Amino acid sequence: MPVYFDAHAHLQNMVDLKKALLKAETAQIQGIICNATHEDDWGKVIELSKTYSNIHVCLGVHPWFLGSLKKGWEARLERLLKENPSYMVGEIGLDKVRADQDPVISSLDNQERVMRIQMDLAAQYNRPFHMHCVHAWDRIMHVLKSNKRPDFFVSHAHHGNVHLIPALAEMGAFFSYASTFVSPERKKVRACLAATPLDRLLVESDCPDLSSEPAEVPNLVKHMAVVRQQDEAVLIKALYQNAERICYGR
Ligand SMILES: [Zn+2]
Repeated sequence: MPVYFDAHAHLQNMVDLKKALLKAETAQIQGIICNATHEDDWGKVIELSKTYSNIHVCLGVHPWFLGSLKKGWEARLERLLKENPSYMVGEIGLDKVRADQDPVISSLDNQERVMRIQMDLAAQYNRPFHMHCVHAWDRIMHVLKSNKRPDFFVSHAHHGNVHLIPALAEMGAFFSYASTFVSPERKKVRACLAATPLDRLLVESDCPDLSSEPAEVPNLVKHMAVVRQQDEAVLIKALYQNAERICYGR
């Protein structure tokens, strides 16, 4: 029986989480990486991991939620990471569309400042961070190159230019793909998916965005096998091993 790992989800935002987790279990989804987006949901993500042992915790502040930052958040994040060696950092990153919508609180300068603080913590405790990047690849490449980093990080819902893949991989990136690549029109993301080294590849539902859920992962892997022209069983095994490497550092 093949087993799967959902490398990026926001389970705390699911409308019917119990149902989604039951479906995930039936679909052999044996691990789910759950990303917080702002301090108010850190507790929810932690609680989920205590109820379900296959849920892996990422705590961080997403570039859409800079308005929620409360004094002392960095110290509170650091304490949680320090006390819980399995916790990772996420979701963090840069989003140019958000910066254009809300240039006062969410300027790229402010987003970068918050991202760097979280990268520093990820590096200090050597925890992978989970990265969101929308229309800010030049800037995020500069941040990645110039900041301290942990051994590994995950570019989630990856869709950057295909020529960035070797440089990102060199810095420790894993590349996680959400359902967008299924559409034949998404040529750029399909090119990235085809060019990603097998030992750096991940698959994600990004639920509940795109109305998705973890149980959809096996279907995404079927499509992946077609785009990459790769044996599905080989792909399933590698995807699972790669996710374990991110979660357990092995
Ligand atoms: Zn996300």
